[in-house]
Amino acid sequence: MQTGKLIVFSAPSGSGKTTIVKHLLKQPELNLEFSVSATSRPIRGDEKEGKDYYFLSAEEFKMKIKNDEFLEWEEVYRDNFYGTLKTEVERIWSLGKHVIFDIDVSGGLRIKRKYPDLTLAVFVKPPSIDELKIRLKKRKTEDEDKINMRIAKASAELATAPLFDVTIENDKLEHALDEAYDTVNDFLNSEKDNGIKK
Ligand code: 5GP
Repeated sequence: MQTGKLIVFSAPSGSGKTTIVKHLLKQPELNLEFSVSATSRPIRGDEKEGKDYYFLSAEEFKMKIKNDEFLEWEEVYRDNFYGTLKTEVERIWSLGKHVIFDIDVSGGLRIKRKYPDLTLAVFVKPPSIDELKIRLKKRKTEDEDKINMRIAKASAELATAPLFDVTIENDKLEHALDEAYDTVNDFLNSEKDNGIKK
């Protein structure tokens, strides 16, 4: 099996990490492929099966947990399971690409612990909890209750930032995008073989 590297982006919901990950995916020279997670949460807006997530029922998800099919999984919000299937990483490595993850803080740290040398774990920090609230409200994808749940979780997540390799503050998006690009590019080039083992 060819082995690429693992780039993890974790952050409280609404920090802008998805925007950063999408930006990096548009840079062909980075040779990144998005790790499509499995989730038991309902499909949202114009999301597509197999592109944004593999949408599973809670029963299907639990069966895969039992069969040890996940590299990591979390019940991120009550009854909403999210996880990275082992087959997803294998699929991307077999394409000769590096994997980029947009996952929650615990999942991100779990991947870093499993593959400490192969993984760059990046924490994206929102300017403040108040700003996060404004962003989540603007996004209009969650109701008031869900927003409050995400805010409560965000405060706990912010405390885990020092456990990551790098923290990028998403105050000005343009700066955050540039910083993310440079950090990832340096990491991917930090070994002669670029992480891809033939
Ligand atoms: P959303 O419902 O907004 O798509 O995602 C909710 C949270 O779940 C986000 O913080 C997202 O990064 C996280 N998440 C998405 N996929 C995974 C995964 O495979 N594993 C873990 N641990 N978290 C994930």
